Amino acid sequence: MPQQTMDRFMEHVVAKTASQYEFHQAVREVIESVWPVFDEYPEYLEARIPHRMVEAERIIIFRVPWIDDSGTVQVNRGFRVEMNSAIGPYKGGLRFHPSVNLGILKFLAFEQVFKNALTTLPMGGGKGGSDFDPKGRTDHEIMRFSQAFMSELYRHIGPHTDIPAGDIGVGAREIGYLFGQYKKLANEFTGILTGKGIDWGGSLIRPESTGYGTVYFTEEMLRAKGDSIHNKTVIVSGSGNVAQYAVENVNRLGGKVVSLSDSSGYVHDPAGIDAEKLSWVKDLKNTRRGRISEYAEQYDVDYFPGGRPWGIEGAHVALPCATQNELDADDAKRIVANGVLVVAEGANMPTEPDAVRLLMENGVLFGPGKAANAGGVATSGLEMAQNAGFTSWTRDEVDAKLLGIMTEIHRTCRDTAEEFGAPDNYVMGANIAAFRKVARAMLDQGVV
Ligand code: NDP
Repeated sequence: MPQQTMDRFMEHVVAKTASQYEFHQAVREVIESVWPVFDEYPEYLEARIPHRMVEAERIIIFRVPWIDDSGTVQVNRGFRVEMNSAIGPYKGGLRFHPSVNLGILKFLAFEQVFKNALTTLPMGGGKGGSDFDPKGRTDHEIMRFSQAFMSELYRHIGPHTDIPAGDIGVGAREIGYLFGQYKKLANEFTGILTGKGIDWGGSLIRPESTGYGTVYFTEEMLRAKGDSIHNKTVIVSGSGNVAQYAVENVNRLGGKVVSLSDSSGYVHDPAGIDAEKLSWVKDLKNTRRGRISEYAEQYDVDYFPGGRPWGIEGAHVALPCATQNELDADDAKRIVANGVLVVAEGANMPTEPDAVRLLMENGVLFGPGKAANAGGVATSGLEMAQNAGFTSWTRDEVDAKLLGIMTEIHRTCRDTAEEFGAPDNYVMGANIAAFRKVARAMLDQGVV
């Protein structure tokens, strides 16, 4: 695609989606790196595949009215972006966070299309959520909100149509309330959500899978250089689902994690977050719903309010596992100066584009989220397979499948990048491999 045409394409996207900045960022990142493909496959442009990919197949926006504990009526906005179903039913998480808006959900849904294509499983891409803020809400309020949200969403989803999952602010508790309401309204017990409780259709390892998968992917990146995570020092941001299980898997593979964070600041624990401390963090974040600053008091380590952990010296690996755009160019300079070998994204788009460029130009191996954190949705795919077969697999079976999928995604990224002359460029490898798969399916299915 000649540069001028690519620029015109981006102008067209920006003009049609003004103020959806995160969406522009995600589209630009993919379009820039699939550019070499269009020379070889002009039919993609003739069929206007890029133009069709940036237009969601369907977007549902709805009112979510509910009553809080004081009897006050609250009104939130609910969304489901059904982005692309070329290779399977829409699949992607639900996010409950006050920052949620259409631009953020479209960026996430767009990324999800390509991520799901990399998993080797037949899943299209979608994303949804609400601007509801769960922080400080009681269990009853969370339940009433989740029920109100599902009261509308239920008519748009189904096991062969759209299968949501969790994301920021939507964990096991919320999935339970959402599922209960779906079952009541639809009068049907069916696998319409993943991340379900283990007693009612969930898969073992699903809670662990995004964090575990990111670390398996990182291990593969290091192995490609004849190295491994064993004895490496690792910086992790976030302290939610992805961060917790990233720490757990680094520990399993013999590395040491020295940081965790939340939206208020980060802690630095040079001795390492071992199994006992991690169990304390899980209780803090998943049950007591406290702040990471309490870790510093509990274990007598330094806490940096408002800070991010990227400047910690002596680390070999950095895993951003909190949220989008949490690692900027200044952070990337610190990472480069400190000699970090690998940055792999547990979160979705945590690294700003300038930071990605800086890391890659300076020889830091960079694993983009659509590849590195695909283990979560891949295991959701495994949950769907178990539900469809009325069966359940053991922990070891699911973990082994997850490892196999992450290894395969890594191989696909490297092989594709190599085909286009840049073997260490995982951004290019992931984008081109995923784009080609979705584009082929769209071509096969005609203009729909
Ligand atoms: P959780 O809600 O469990 O945890 C989110 C963590 O990020 C919390 O520690 C939260 O802190 C922190 N955080 C949120 N906003 C900010 C901010 N603005 N600055 C700094 N920290 C922030 O979510 P998950 O762990 O599930 O998701 C984390 C990331 O991983 C997201 O980008 C998500 O899209 C992505 N992801 C998740 C998957 C999954 O299976 N769960 C799958 C693939 C990707 P606080 O408590 O203060 O809000």
